[in-house]
Amino acid sequence: MERQYIVALDQGTTSSRCIIFDQNETIVALAQKETRQIYPRPGWVEQDPMEIYATIYGAMNEALAQAGVGPAQIAAIGVANQRETSILWDKETGKPVCNAIVWQCRRTAEDCEVLKAQGLEPLVRRKTGLLIDGYFSATKIRWALDNIPGARRLADQGRLLFGTVDTWLLWKLTGGAVHKTDYTNASRTMLFDIHARDWDEELLRALDIPRQILPEVCASSGLFGMAQAGGRQIPVAGMAGDQQAALFGQACFEPGDCKNTYGTGCFLLVNTGDLAPQSRSGLLTTMACGAGGKPCYALEGSVFAGGSVVQWLRDEMRFIVEAADSEYFAAKAPDNGGVYFVPAFTGLGAPHWDMYARGAIYGLTRGTGRNQIIRAALEAVAYQSNDVLQAVVQDSGLALKELRVDGGASRNQFLMQFQADISGVRTVRTQNAEATALGAAYLAGLAQGVWQDPAEIKRRKPIEAVYEPAMDPAVRAKNLAGWQAAVSRTLTRQ
Ligand code: ADP
Repeated sequence: MERQYIVALDQGTTSSRCIIFDQNETIVALAQKETRQIYPRPGWVEQDPMEIYATIYGAMNEALAQAGVGPAQIAAIGVANQRETSILWDKETGKPVCNAIVWQCRRTAEDCEVLKAQGLEPLVRRKTGLLIDGYFSATKIRWALDNIPGARRLADQGRLLFGTVDTWLLWKLTGGAVHKTDYTNASRTMLFDIHARDWDEELLRALDIPRQILPEVCASSGLFGMAQAGGRQIPVAGMAGDQQAALFGQACFEPGDCKNTYGTGCFLLVNTGDLAPQSRSGLLTTMACGAGGKPCYALEGSVFAGGSVVQWLRDEMRFIVEAADSEYFAAKAPDNGGVYFVPAFTGLGAPHWDMYARGAIYGLTRGTGRNQIIRAALEAVAYQSNDVLQAVVQDSGLALKELRVDGGASRNQFLMQFQADISGVRTVRTQNAEATALGAAYLAGLAQGVWQDPAEIKRRKPIEAVYEPAMDPAVRAKNLAGWQAAVSRTLTRQ
């Protein structure tokens, strides 16, 4: 059979990457270009939309050259992207009206307080599955309409378009012909009714955002449009937000399938199938991709301080030289020695939700040493992930068979074994670490017939390591109680 290739574009916050896979999921080329972050004021984060596109396009051309593959051999393009980041542009000139307002940007924090004071939170929660927060696109769009000279007028003239990064890339790749997004990205705007699967008039009115600037919303796997590359037309056939793409890339196609990405922070998502459970623990309900890329729902929770705790040990405490060394030193401590580390550097997320909490280490004695603290730091990553996992189980009513893991810190064997032990769930690291790009490739490849059977994809997924829960139940209970006590003492609201 002739080799077929799928181009996965992975546009992240700090870099634009292109990975080319063949139909056996082998990576045949990878190219990466850094993207600049712009900090015009404290708490504000922007990026240049033209640079976002130029770096993705550059990475794609570089990867194609590396692979020695011509556009004619590319079956499809899939896109995975940083979520919530918002771009507005004039469709006549193709020029953005301002910089992209990045998900991390806090410029609309006060606007969100106003919306909460207006009593909008229950409506937002019920319809979008989100909480009112400046991370999501809605208040960023509103800010641009109110503050960028001429933006509102362009909208009135029907010339202004809004897009998350997927939409902007698609519009550019198709030469301005296609203005579409997918369900997963739409569900992060705080304007999308995830039950009706449509933009919500009530929220649009409340935020004074005109519907005509919004893209058409499509399933994540399917033909979005034809990209013009190297004088040929290549179908863009898959798009999803990065976390949902990673869930799909881990072959978490069925309800109860669950993944955790251990990066700077941790992102845990569980596929909940056709059910969109409303969380009682402050998790987000969002749209994701089920078998064959069909729309489904997911619960999502994040840990703010994941691998960043290890960075802190390395850069601030200078306890270790490289992140990977944490495993060696942690394993030298025979047990936790009663030491608990609550790394609430920027507050605590789900299910505790305390933005004002700050980090603390408990249980120090005269004999506590470096190894003990390194061990407590790694354990904290697992405890926090477990808190999210248990909230997911409670809110979804689903029994989790296993936890699939990816991200830099998932290579830490001590951390993964402790995760399995403390959560009582088998923890599985699949071989291909590029879950996000692979998810985008699956979505595009399934739409174009490169792959037909999601079950087959799942079956043949190579497993790198499996960690079975092995902790004595009494020890586990004692550890969990110790962690809970430490968290309680850290919360500012007692
Ligand atoms: P991101 O995409 O958020 O930049 P990565 O998936 O590249 O993150 O993971 C990097 C993070 O993982 C860093 O915070 C680093 O400290 C941590 N990390 C990397 N390798 C290890 C390891 N072997 N043990 C523990 N932490 C690690």
